[in-house]
Amino acid sequence: IVEAKTPDGGTVGFRVDITELKNARDEAEAANRAKSEFLDVMSHELRTPLTVVLGGTPFLCRPELLPAATKLFSTLEAKGAEAEDIKLEVEALLASLKSLAGKVDRSAKHLLTLINDVLDFSKIEAGRMDLSQEPINLAHLVEDLIEEFSLKAESKSLYLESEVGDIFVEADELRLRQVFINILGNAFKFTDEGGIRISADDRGARVHVTVSDTGCGIPAAHLNQVFNKFSQVDSSSTRKAGGTGLGMAITKKIVEMHGGDIWVESEEGAGSSFTFTLQRADAKRVANDEPAQIP
Ligand code: ADP
Repeated sequence: IVEAKTPDGGTVGFRVDITELKNARDEAEAANRAKSEFLDVMSHELRTPLTVVLGGTPFLCRPELLPAATKLFSTLEAKGAEAEDIKLEVEALLASLKSLAGKVDRSAKHLLTLINDVLDFSKIEAGRMDLSQEPINLAHLVEDLIEEFSLKAESKSLYLESEVGDIFVEADELRLRQVFINILGNAFKFTDEGGIRISADDRGARVHVTVSDTGCGIPAAHLNQVFNKFSQVDSSSTRKAGGTGLGMAITKKIVEMHGGDIWVESEEGAGSSFTFTLQRADAKRVANDEPAQIP
């Protein structure tokens, strides 16, 4: 209630409904909190791989080191038993250089993914992401992705299976790959036992694609936030899994730009299933393989 004096010395009361104002303020505060959480997470995410890269570069900036060590190694090998100790030392040096080069390579690739996520997101927000549209054979694309992720699956002893037949969808191949890579990347990140299965269900004009994992799952209270920008179930900077909280927001936008929907079903401790829909490719266009532009 707001009170005001009248010219004759009286008082009038106004009842003002500020619910909407309060809601808008709460939303703005939540957005600000999400943004500063994002900045904390992002600076941690960028700093960690950068430290590894910068730790390795002083050695790797001396490219003569590796061939010199390799040459020394073969000279020592030729000398046989008398040089055995030195040979072992050089062998250890070569192994640590190789491991360092591997770490630098992985960290630099991780940095590139983070930076690409941020750039893609701002491109989408500014309405500057253009898509082409062509008939894509889902079975081939998924086979390719399974090959790409096979090392990761082996290193975590997880199965990675496809139940996708020869179904053609209309999509921008690079962006569709990005959708799969984001969902699969998370599935691997959050699964330690069991594995990941990709399936596709042809429902006439639409195709439903599902990626299911047997990972940690998502608490029910967080399910509807997964596709929000900057959202992570565990946003502390000490959390186990890296990331920026942008991957699923980008994925949702790309699916929507293709005219599809995306949703997640999950049970904590049992796993998650991400399903997205795509337009089935027109049979004539599949035969002609003729690309078109999404308006
Ligand atoms: P991030 O880059 O942090 O992984 P995403 O936008 O890709 O961000 O995902 C948002 C959040 O949703 C993740 O931080 C995680 O908490 C949750 N999430 C996404 N996919 C899965 C999954 N397959 N299993 C469990 N949690 C998941």
